[in-house]
Amino acid sequence: MDKQQEYALRTVEERDVRFIRLWFTDVMGTLKSVAIAPAELEAAFEEGIGFDGSAIEGMTRVSEDDMILRPDPSTFQILPWRGGPQGTARIFCDVQTPDGEPSLADPRHVLKRALSKAKDKGFTFYVHPEIEFYLFKKQDDWSQTPVPIDEGGYFDHVPRSPGMDFRRATVNMLEQMGISVEFSHHEGGPGQNEIDLRYADALTIADNIMTFRTVVKEISLERGIHASFMPKPLANAPGSGMHTHLSLFEGDSNAFYEAGQEFNMSITARQFAAGILHHAAEISAVTDQYVNSYKRLWGGNEAPSYICWGHNNRSALLRIPMYKPGKGNSARIEYRALDSVCNPYLAYSVLLAAGLDGIEQKMTLGEPTSDDVWELTDQERQAMGIQPLPESLEEAVKIMEKSDFVADVLGEHVFNYFIRNKRQEWNAYRRQVTPFELEHYLAKL
Ligand code: GLU
Ligand code: MG
Ligand code: MG
Repeated sequence: MDKQQEYALRTVEERDVRFIRLWFTDVMGTLKSVAIAPAELEAAFEEGIGFDGSAIEGMTRVSEDDMILRPDPSTFQILPWRGGPQGTARIFCDVQTPDGEPSLADPRHVLKRALSKAKDKGFTFYVHPEIEFYLFKKQDDWSQTPVPIDEGGYFDHVPRSPGMDFRRATVNMLEQMGISVEFSHHEGGPGQNEIDLRYADALTIADNIMTFRTVVKEISLERGIHASFMPKPLANAPGSGMHTHLSLFEGDSNAFYEAGQEFNMSITARQFAAGILHHAAEISAVTDQYVNSYKRLWGGNEAPSYICWGHNNRSALLRIPMYKPGKGNSARIEYRALDSVCNPYLAYSVLLAAGLDGIEQKMTLGEPTSDDVWELTDQERQAMGIQPLPESLEEAVKIMEKSDFVADVLGEHVFNYFIRNKRQEWNAYRRQVTPFELEHYLAKL
């Protein structure tokens, strides 16, 4: 029994915890949960808890047998919204096969594998997500356009807005669970908000994002509001992204910073950024996994559509803020395509692997783009060598399907399942007759 396990067991007893929820994530990024009684926790640490893997998205066919959940004691936390005494705690789990091997269908394992490759090269991967979401009035009919809870815009201080209160409650609850928040503010769209988590290693942040989504949903239920992470819920307002700042550390020092180099950017940073741009189209189905994700990417409003980088260029896919002398440890690159409904374990795996590939292959980073790339003509973009991101889920899946790189990072099982699932989604979508078609064609044609 290690110290973290002992701490969890002691806390359960001292705080009179009644249920412990074992959390894990399926391939599509849905949080799964099974509650155990406190008396089972010790055995869960020692032997794991069996469950029927075939009923979980993406786990079917990995094994006909039961799968095993192995709780990661470092993630033990009491859930503040369940109250106490007789409260509830949660603990993230790794999924294993009955013979104790990591499950190839476990996204947490995919990320751990990617992180261990970085570790072999001496790197720790840190990330810092900016999570955007909308707050809407409750509605019963999901086919209707949602109504935002306020009319605020970017950084607006909306007095007595339920949004302000909402952010405050969310930040407080996250902090109670040991998740530090750096910023929170009203975003550009009416009823749109952003909360930025303080940077940490990618596995911790991926777990924290899963917790974050749950906290936001809990608070919205409490308040009779509908919170949505949908990438583009309103046609004429900004979508919700999850820009993520990425950095590599070697021990205590940031490997992206090197005083004296152009922009104080190390060769490592340039190669990492080049790798990400090189693989951006292939990884797009993972970072932007829904039909609706591409409505955000191609809907303007500061979402990136083209594969390029810039210093302070918010139309670029990759924004690399100037690295300031004396602030080396904050050197980072910001990837802007991710949206708030990606599977964070898989998305951070492909981003890390893309960057490491850039380092391994010594890729060169081209010139930064200072123009607004949306305003350029196709010819101008072509002359500058700027390619578009995939324009739809279908195109993204077609590109991903040909990628040995993505297959290698995700592993064949997750890769194949993912593509199958996304194909089904596309096929279901393309049969639809949309309000746009009715409006434009029915009367006239
Ligand atoms: N909401 C925008 C997006 O979809 C980003 C706005 C911002 O720069 O924070 O990516
Ligand atoms: Mg934002
Ligand atoms: Mg940003």
